[in-house]
Amino acid sequence: MFLSEIQDMDKKYYMDTFGSRIPVAFTKGEGIDLWSTDGEKYTDFFAGIAVNSIGYSHPTFVNMVTKQVSSLIHCSNLYYIESQALLAKELVENSCADKIFFANSGAEANEGAIKLARIYFKKQGNPEKFEIITLQKSFHGRTITTLSATGQEKYSKPFEPLTSGFKKVPINDFSALEAAITENTCAIMLEPVQGESGVYPCDYEYLQNVKKLCEEKKLLLIFDEVQTGVGRTGKLFGYQNYNVEPDIFTLAKALGGGVPIGAICAKEHVAKAFAPGEHGSTFGGNPLACTAGLAVMKIMKEEHLPENAEKLGKYIKSQLENLASTSHPVISEVRAAGLMIGIELNKPIAPIVKTKMFEKKYLIANVGENILRILPPLIITQTDADEFIITLKSAIDEVL
Ligand SMILES: *Cc1c(COP(=O)(O)O)cnc(C)c1O
Repeated sequence: MFLSEIQDMDKKYYMDTFGSRIPVAFTKGEGIDLWSTDGEKYTDFFAGIAVNSIGYSHPTFVNMVTKQVSSLIHCSNLYYIESQALLAKELVENSCADKIFFANSGAEANEGAIKLARIYFKKQGNPEKFEIITLQKSFHGRTITTLSATGQEKYSKPFEPLTSGFKKVPINDFSALEAAITENTCAIMLEPVQGESGVYPCDYEYLQNVKKLCEEKKLLLIFDEVQTGVGRTGKLFGYQNYNVEPDIFTLAKALGGGVPIGAICAKEHVAKAFAPGEHGSTFGGNPLACTAGLAVMKIMKEEHLPENAEKLGKYIKSQLENLASTSHPVISEVRAAGLMIGIELNKPIAPIVKTKMFEKKYLIANVGENILRILPPLIITQTDADEFIITLKSAIDEVL
C-alpha cells in the first residue's frame, strides 16, 4: 500500500491522538534497520521507544516466537503456562525480586504495583497508609491512576478528577522528599532514570538516601523500570547501577521484544499481600508474550547486550561531549545511562534537527524544543555509533 493511502485511512478511521505523525510507514525490519513502504532504508536510533532492544528480526527471537505462534498463542490463567513459569524464574534468578506477575503494558504493570503497595499496608492493619510519593517530570502511564502518579500536568490535567493519594516532589531533592512524608505515606515510586521527560537520572547518593529513608520509615520503594529495565541502562535492571534494591519494580517496553508484555516484580514479603482473586489479567503472561520474553532474556545474556549498552552509551556520550567542547557548543549537556541518552541543546532546534535526521534516514526523537532523545537498539556496534555521530553533526550544521 502507498503511504498516502494509509494516511488517508488513518485520518478517516483512527482516533487523532498522535496528531500528524512522521510521514513514513514501515514494512520490514532487520538488525537496526527499517524499510519503508517506498523501499527506503532507515537506521533506527529510537527502537520503537526502547522496545526493540534486540533489533528487528533477530533469528533466535523469530525462531522461538514463530514456533510458539504455530503451537499455542493464548490459553488463560485458569491453567498452568510453561513459558510463564520459565520467564518468571528467569527474572527472579537475575534480579532482586522473588515473585513476578505479568501484565500487558507498562501502565498496567505500574497500576498493579500501586495496588500491591496499597493492599500490603491494608493487610498489615494500616489502611491509612495509601499515599505514594512520586517525582515531578515522571512518567508512569496513561491510565487514570498511573496518570495520577505521573508528575506532568499536561498529561493528567484534562482527565481530572484523578485517583487521590499521589504527591509529587522534585527529583534529586532529598529534603523535599523527606518533608512530603506523612503517616499516610505507603511508598515512594520513581524511575531510576526519567525517560519520557528527557533523560534525567536520579543521583547515586539520592537513591542511597531514599532507600535508607524507606527502611527507617517502613515505606515500600517502587522503581518504575518500564524503560530502564532489560539492559537499557547498561545493567539488566536500572537499580543495579545504584546498588539499591527496590521492594517492587515494574518492566514492560523491551521485555517482549515488541510483543506486548509488562511485569510486576516484587520481594516475597510484599508479593504475598496479593491473595488469590485480588489481581488478574486475561492476556497477561500468555504463552506468546512469555516466549517472546524468554527469547529476549536469552539474547540479552548470549550477546551481552547490557554490557554493550554500557560500553556504547559511554562512547556516544564522550563523542557528543567532545563535539560540545570543540565544534558544536550548541550541545549544552549530554545525559546518559547506558543507551538511554538525552542531548540538551542551548537553542530551540531539537524538532528541526530531528526532521533533518529523518531526511538523512535516521530515526530519533525530541522532547520539547531543546532536547534530542535517542534510544538505539542495544545491538549497535561502534561503527553504527560513529555513523550516527557523523550524521548528527551534519544535521546540526545544516540547521544552524
Ligand atoms: C513507557 C512508559 C510507561 C508506560 O508504558 P505503556 O506500555 O505505554 O503503558 C510507564 N513508565 C515508564 C517509565 C515508561 O517509560
